[in-house]
Amino acid sequence: MKAQLLTGPGPAASRPLTLVERSALRPRPGEIAIDVAACGVCRTDLQLVEGDLPAHRLPVVPGHQVVGRVAALGAAVERWQVGDRVGVAWLGGACGHCDLCRSGHENLCADAEFTGWDRDGGYATSMLARADFSFPIPDGFTDEEAAPLLCGGVIGYRSLRISGIEPGGRLGLYGFGASALLAIQVALHWGCEVYVATRSEVEQQRALEMGAVWAGAAHDRPPVDLDAAVTFAPVGSVVVAALSALRPGGTVAINAIHLDRIPEFDYDLLWRERSLRSVANFTRHDAEEFLALAVEIPVRTLSDLFPLAEANTALERLSEGGIGGAAVLSTAPDPPSA
Ligand SMILES: [Zn+2]
Ligand SMILES: [Zn+2]
Repeated sequence: MKAQLLTGPGPAASRPLTLVERSALRPRPGEIAIDVAACGVCRTDLQLVEGDLPAHRLPVVPGHQVVGRVAALGAAVERWQVGDRVGVAWLGGACGHCDLCRSGHENLCADAEFTGWDRDGGYATSMLARADFSFPIPDGFTDEEAAPLLCGGVIGYRSLRISGIEPGGRLGLYGFGASALLAIQVALHWGCEVYVATRSEVEQQRALEMGAVWAGAAHDRPPVDLDAAVTFAPVGSVVVAALSALRPGGTVAINAIHLDRIPEFDYDLLWRERSLRSVANFTRHDAEEFLALAVEIPVRTLSDLFPLAEANTALERLSEGGIGGAAVLSTAPDPPSA
């Protein structure tokens, strides 16, 4: 098998990943081996590769938006058969017995393991995954279309849920990158009025083309009070802007692993039962629910394909802002080069 290995972080331009040949993987009990077809390139991968997200172990194979086929079963695996199409996402495992796991909050488990961070991920032709943390990919999407849904798509969906937005409600999206591009499709499917605030004029235009009723700059106030908002931009002042656009009782869901300081704001903005909530990872249930909905809508993804051998190039483009939709690594013999 081939894998893109991170041995030490560095700027994407220094090409930190090395393509190596490794011996075939053998699944341990409870695991499956997967022949990887496609793996999405996420901003979190870039943060790991560049060292902004400290590595949990090195060397490591990044990649946590994996679509492939089951190639081998470890002992005690009954859920899967060789040849099944399978997806693996960021949550690669959780303990299953702590209070959080048992109450439906496995995304918050202190012993959670993450794909491409604690476990080797999908920047490879083959990988191992826990059988119980792998899920079926519904028909209706190609491998390359499905891959970007597995991180930004699912977490965008969870953010909508946490924001409490209801069908037909007025929703604000702050920032309009890969995850928001998928979230807006769900919100429009629910009949929501969507208001998009982003500093990029190109993204404002795209939001309007996709069906937003209003688009403005990052700190502009939408013309109506919002029932709920999701912030995607990793900027604290945007959270305050979103909060100040909420009706009483509304919620801002913060979809960001890292956020700079949230500036001081008047209690009046929070008063009258407004809420601020963060969104951390997602559960298997979120992933399965979102994938079923994504087929029904159907959610469209815009993928820029790169061969596995060009993972460094894909990360470099992402760091330069040169990816229009979602970057996806493909193990197909000759994927069209982006
Ligand atoms: Zn991700
Ligand atoms: Zn747990």
